[in-house]
Amino acid sequence: MRRKILVSLLAAISAFASLDCSYRFHRRNGTMSYNLGREPSDWWQAIRDYHGHVGPWNVLGYRIGKRALKEFGERWGSHALDITCYVPLRTPFTCMADGLTLGTGNTLGRLDIRLAEAPDVASIRVAVRRKTGDETLIFTPRRDFLDKIAKVTDKTLDALAHECADLPDEQLFAIGRE
Ligand SMILES: [Zn+2]
Repeated sequence: MRRKILVSLLAAISAFASLDCSYRFHRRNGTMSYNLGREPSDWWQAIRDYHGHVGPWNVLGYRIGKRALKEFGERWGSHALDITCYVPLRTPFTCMADGLTLGTGNTLGRLDIRLAEAPDVASIRVAVRRKTGDETLIFTPRRDFLDKIAKVTDKTLDALAHECADLPDEQLFAIGRE
């Protein structure tokens, strides 16, 4: 009996110790601008560094992320918003998530950006809500633009990415409220 108590006590202490260790570890910020909550000054290059290429899908995610921050009056890296990106779970559609990450500073590990499965291209949307609030904004990309970038190839990647960067928001997506 006494041995059993001792074993449980030791297990509790080691669990506490590992929690404590992980806690201290996470309190230390990295020094790169992303860790410091600083928006990348060259977002195009930041997407290239993070994702490996710049294409219309990650630029679309970036544009939606930027607009979401503006709509909610939040700054980059504040982690105040909760984002769900509904896309068919395969590239190039999922590339949107990395653009959303770069556009807002939200991260997978902080659970404030996640992918959810959309059955088809027509169902692609991004839902954004404040972590503390009820209202959800639904960003629905324009269908004609989605159909165009769904056919992206290596040859058209750069031109479509630039087109997505330059078009006004209204020609890229609609914003609804739920
Ligand atoms: Zn990609």
